[in-house]
Amino acid sequence: MTGYEAIIGLEIHAQLKTASKAFCACPTTFGASPNVNVCPICLGHPGTLPVLNRNLVAYAVTLGLATNCQIRRQSTFSRKNYFYADLPKGYQITQYEDPICYGGSVEIETDDGVKRIGITRIHMEEDSGKSIHDLDIDTLVDLNRAGVPLLEIVSEPDIRTAREAYLYLQQLRQTLLYLDICDGNMEEGSLRCDANVSVRKVGETRFGTKTEVKNLNSFRNVEKAIEYEIVRQIEVIESGGKVQQQTMQWDAAKQQTKVMRSKEQAHDYRYFPEPDLGPVVVDDLWKEQLRAALPELGLARKRRFMAAYGLPSYDAAILVDDVAVADYYEEACANLGTADAEAYKAVSNWIMTELLRIMGQQKCGIREAGCTPAQLASLVMAVKNDVISNKTAKDIFPAMLETGKTADVIIEEQGLRQVSDTAAIKLLVDKVLADNPDNLAKYKSGKTNLFGFFVGQVLKASGGSANPGIVSSMMKEALDASDPQ
Ligand code: ADP
Ligand code: ZN
Ligand code: MG
Repeated sequence: MTGYEAIIGLEIHAQLKTASKAFCACPTTFGASPNVNVCPICLGHPGTLPVLNRNLVAYAVTLGLATNCQIRRQSTFSRKNYFYADLPKGYQITQYEDPICYGGSVEIETDDGVKRIGITRIHMEEDSGKSIHDLDIDTLVDLNRAGVPLLEIVSEPDIRTAREAYLYLQQLRQTLLYLDICDGNMEEGSLRCDANVSVRKVGETRFGTKTEVKNLNSFRNVEKAIEYEIVRQIEVIESGGKVQQQTMQWDAAKQQTKVMRSKEQAHDYRYFPEPDLGPVVVDDLWKEQLRAALPELGLARKRRFMAAYGLPSYDAAILVDDVAVADYYEEACANLGTADAEAYKAVSNWIMTELLRIMGQQKCGIREAGCTPAQLASLVMAVKNDVISNKTAKDIFPAMLETGKTADVIIEEQGLRQVSDTAAIKLLVDKVLADNPDNLAKYKSGKTNLFGFFVGQVLKASGGSANPGIVSSMMKEALDASDPQ
């Protein structure tokens, strides 16, 4: 490994959440029965004409603006010709020489700090249908996906490690979700990633020959495949061989890459301008309207969470990763009725431990986890105001979920209000000391670790309702004041 560095560029395909396909009115719904979302246009029947979906262009520009790209005022579509059973027209409508967006970048936060990954281009294209091979019969073709709009996002070869590739993909996915233009589901194929990988000796300025690993359908596979490919290429070079320019596939079962085909060249596709579609024009007015509609994105929101709520980077990153969780967090904080860093952190803790756990178990969103932002805020404030201890809060959390009541109501109903009344606590402190003369003597002769015992006795005597902080300080005072026996 040492002595080499890897060069990585990702090509990501994002399936868009437009209601209809790129060039016809068919719906894009996932999971429909095979071959029902089709029409003569997406089936490629002779004599039909494509009509461009305006939302496809709007989504492309929106993503371009969100990733700091230049937006091309006028761009065109091309035909990429190849033969395959799931491509009824015999060509894919895509963009070639003049992609709608170019020259952008995405920031990732690595362990060594912020790094900018360049985006070469984002272009619009249509998806192919799906060939289903994994049945015990012949291959089947489902054309529901044919013509579904895609954005292809091509990165500069700026990525150096599998980890950086992972972070870049994660950042881009988060942006797509924040923009609400792609559902980001890698298993269902709405987000697909191809990794281009090469290695070179450290100090070398030219790139080595790359391989392209296709269709990595999970974050884990992206990371694993890149790691594998880096090691494989170094071994090839170290044993005196040359890396072949090839298209590979990740075999998740065997945990290795395997060759699919030798790399095809652009001229193999005989790209030429799509004669049935005019140029795509994005004027300044439209572009600025789309820019004005951009939401606050994940990384900006994360930085704001750290500044405004005093959260650690770790918390902020987890909270903003899911827009709904981030919204929930802000709503809960607004419900606290006070600007208090400790309470803000407590809200974060409850979400990160309890709510995210429930969401994982029940495979639901945070709003379905059973605790409203107002309920959570009431719980946090009850602890903050010393009405209940942290332990009692943990105990009543399930009751909150079950009943939908706020913490305050449950505390009153169950009489859980902790005793902060110093006179009442003082009586208990004195009683415990009076009841335990032996231990008091031992304490006074130096066995100060008995302190916990005394505090415990008072808490026990109060039935767990005494405020532990107050008990502790009053006990200390009483012990210091008592005479040696
Ligand atoms: P191709 O001609 O194979 O389509 P491109 O130049 O269009 O290659 O680049 C495709 C992707 O591969 C981009 O993400 C780019 O950053 C990346 N890439 C280009 N050259 C290399 C290389 N030598 N090593 C690793 N990645 C590369
Ligand atoms: Zn159609
Ligand atoms: Mg290329």
